[in-house]
Formats: sequence, structure tokens, C-alpha cells
Amino acid sequence: MYFDSHAHLDFSDFAADRGDVLARAWEAGLEGIVLVGSGDGDTSVREALRLAAADERLWATVGVHPHDASLGLKFEGSPTAPIPAPQRSLWEARRRRVLGRLSMQALHPKVVAIGEVGLDFHYDLSPREVQRVLFRDFVRLARRLRLPLVIHARDDHGEVARILTEESAGLTGGIIHCFTGEESLLRTGLDLGFAFGINGILTFPNAEKLRRSVRDVPLERLVLETDAPYLTPVPFRGRRNEPARVAEIAQALGKLRGLSAEEIGSVTSATVRRVLRLDAREAAPPGRIAYQVKEALYLNVTNRCTLACRFCLKRGGHLLGDIPLALRREPTPAEVLAAYREASGERYAEAVFCGVGEPLLRAEVVIEVGRKLRDEGQRVRVNTDGLASLVLGRDIVSELRGAVDTVSVSLNAPDVKSYARLCQPPDPQAAFDAMCDFIRRAAQEIPTVVATAVALPGVDLAACERLARSLGARFRARPFGEYRGFRPHQPNTGGSAEKGEE
Ligand code: SF4
Repeated sequence: MYFDSHAHLDFSDFAADRGDVLARAWEAGLEGIVLVGSGDGDTSVREALRLAAADERLWATVGVHPHDASLGLKFEGSPTAPIPAPQRSLWEARRRRVLGRLSMQALHPKVVAIGEVGLDFHYDLSPREVQRVLFRDFVRLARRLRLPLVIHARDDHGEVARILTEESAGLTGGIIHCFTGEESLLRTGLDLGFAFGINGILTFPNAEKLRRSVRDVPLERLVLETDAPYLTPVPFRGRRNEPARVAEIAQALGKLRGLSAEEIGSVTSATVRRVLRLDAREAAPPGRIAYQVKEALYLNVTNRCTLACRFCLKRGGHLLGDIPLALRREPTPAEVLAAYREASGERYAEAVFCGVGEPLLRAEVVIEVGRKLRDEGQRVRVNTDGLASLVLGRDIVSELRGAVDTVSVSLNAPDVKSYARLCQPPDPQAAFDAMCDFIRRAAQEIPTVVATAVALPGVDLAACERLARSLGARFRARPFGEYRGFRPHQPNTGGSAEKGEE
């Protein structure tokens, strides 16, 4: 009946009794909770994703809160002063890394929005200059990934409204979190199709402006949120807030609108589902885990990818032919094995970890399933961008020994400049070096290593081949879109993403 559209259950405030907090929420009639994964470090995002992956009623957002826009750097002086050039360039390097990481995490199947992002000129915990830059970055990221936004705005709502308009945030829509009745944001938010998050502030004695404002906002543009552990509603002030308290907010809103708490719950929950497109997600057919390409059976284990290659077919919506490949959630090793067995009535020349995203972001699944398949005599290949050791922070090549027969690495470019242009990694130099090192290491550890490049105009294939051979790998040029046409196979059919096929 109720949906808490904004809670920080990843915070350590809930470490000791998170299970009890969730149990009380379901008991109070909540049908879902959106966990807001935003912070300067990775911990908040990872924790929100971990929790959301474990319960179908939990969803997650990813972003950087404006308080944390400094990205861990210490800035001296006034928050309105320009940042000195050396510090700005340090911040720019962090900005690239953080955006790269978050664009990858945003592909997690339980991520429903980019947020909370915006401006906070009340506390000014980060210089305004970097708050503004990151806010625009995140609106653009949301547009690129076609995800709604969760907006934080405190003091200078006019500037938030202006940035949302200038950056065409109407294309994404979303939720204006912690709405306090500001006129400029209300008008812009309504024009751009946003909903407004109403929380415990509605019950505060001094919130007359908000109460006046929400009397007139169309009910189907309001959503409930707790912002737990903050903003505990009256009469529980002074205690930690939690999602079960959303019922108090529904009651307060119902009083203003002449409706019961249950009626408010039902309308606002429908709005959360509409704005965050939850129904569309659940109605979408589940992505295929196993699908045939020529004589091989491809295994699809994640939607996430470190890169944003300009030629990537998944930009077309995770569909190949009319077969959906976008996974609603990431399959377990047992589910991957079951999909393999269901599809492999006949023996395939190879089982290939490929699919929509970068399989080695789930290295543990590839290794566990790969070992089992090889024990059964199945040849195994992984198609990869070669960045897993960099992203996961450990040597993945040595772990792959015994789990795969062939590694096919997307080299794609002979130098860092063209690699950056074509594959758009968060940190081009680090990514290019890591990819080359991955090939070099794989050539020492894995029986067959092939470096590939897509034959696109402007790609120097001869130089790619020279680099591949110097790293100890074979080379193959791949025609663009070579597996767009595929041979359907029941019951697990599909196509291949444009990555690393040999
Ligand atoms: S082509 Fe492969 S590596 Fe590039 S973005 Fe697509 S899935 Fe990722």
C-alpha cells in the first residue's frame, strides 16, 4: 500500500538492526523502498546495491550527494570562491573516475534512478563550483541512461530549476526529494513531469508553507518518503526515522487532502511506480541467460559494463533481433548452469561468457561456472574488455587459470587516444594500460588469447594487430554487427553483444 521513495538504509545507523527495520516496514504495509546510494565514496552505493539485489521489494539509486561534491578533496576558503587550478585538476581526475564508476553501477538491474544529486547552498559542504558541475554531469548521465532523477535542492531552488530546464531534465523526469513548498521548483518540476517527495517535515509545526503548497499540487504528482534516518515525523521527533513511519506522513497528507491514509498510500505508490518505471521493468520479458550464436552457447551474466563503446549494440536497448537480453537481476552461478543445461541438449563447440555487459565484473560467477563446464569437457571462452583486474583491484587473470580455455579481449584501438574516443573509459590512460597488461598476463596463463578490434572507419587494424602480437596474443578484426543476425534456438535463444567475439 505504501512506498517509501527515499531512505538511507545503507547508513551505519541501521547496521545493528536493519533486518528488524525492514520487517517493521513490511508489517506497516509498505510494498517497496527506494534505497538512496549516494556519497563521495563507493560504500553507500555498494551497500544500497547489495541490499536491493537481495530483496525484490527494494530498489536503489546511484549518485553523489551535493554535500560530497568535493569528492574527498579538502578545499580552503569561501564556498563561492573559484577553485585554484591545481586543485581543480585533481578534482577533475576524481570526477572522471567517479562518473565512470557510477555509470557502470547504474546499469545494475535494481537501479531505478540517478540520485540524490543537485545543489545544497545551505550547508555549503562542497564548493558551489563543483556542485554545479557534478549536478549537470548527473542530469546528462540520467539522460544518456534513460533513468529518472532524484533531486536534492536546498537554498537556491531557482538555480536547481534553471539547470534542470537547461539540461532538458524533462526527458528523464523523476522526483524532487524533500519538497518544502518552494514556488520556483514547484512550477519547473510540474512543467518537466517531476513528482514531489513529501516527508516528515509535513508534520512539523513550522511547515505551514509546505502544507499550503501541497493542498494544491495534483495528488498524482506527490510521493511519500521518509529520508530515514532523518526527518522523523511528529510525534516521534528525536528518534531515528525508519520506513515504517511513512504511514504517519500518509496520514498527515490525507488530513490536508480529505482522504484516508490508505487512499494516499495507494495513489502515491502508483506514482512512484510510474515515475521510476517499475511496472515497465517488471512487465519487460526477462533477459535470456543462455542463447546460441553459430556453434556456440553464449552466457549472459550482467548488464553492467565499465566502458561505453560508441559501437555497442546494447545502446539500442539491450535487444538483439527481437530477443531481450537485459537481465532483470544478475543470475547466480546455479542459474547460469541451469540455463546452460536447459539449452545444451546438443553439445556446443564453446560456452562463451559474453552477453549484454562485461562478464568479468562477475568474475566469481565466470570462474565457478567455467570450472564446472570444463570438468564436463565443455570448451569455455570469455569475451572481455580486459579491465576486470583494474576495476576489481586484484589479478583476475591468475584466477581464470583452469576456468577458461580462451580469452578474447576487446583491444579495439592501437593507442590511448583512439581507445578513449571509441570506448570512452572513465580514465583512458589507466584503462588502456590495464587492458594491455591483461592481454600480456593472459598470454602467459591462458591457453588461447585473442585480441580483437571492430573494423570501423578510422580504426587502424594493422596497428591493432601489431600491438596484439607484441603483447603475445593472436589478433582478429571483427566486422561491425557480425552477429546481429542469429539463429534462434529454443528455449534459450538470443544474440550477442558487440564485444570480443572470436
Ligand atoms: S561493446 Fe562490450 S565493452 Fe563496449 S560498452 Fe558494449 S558491452 Fe561494454
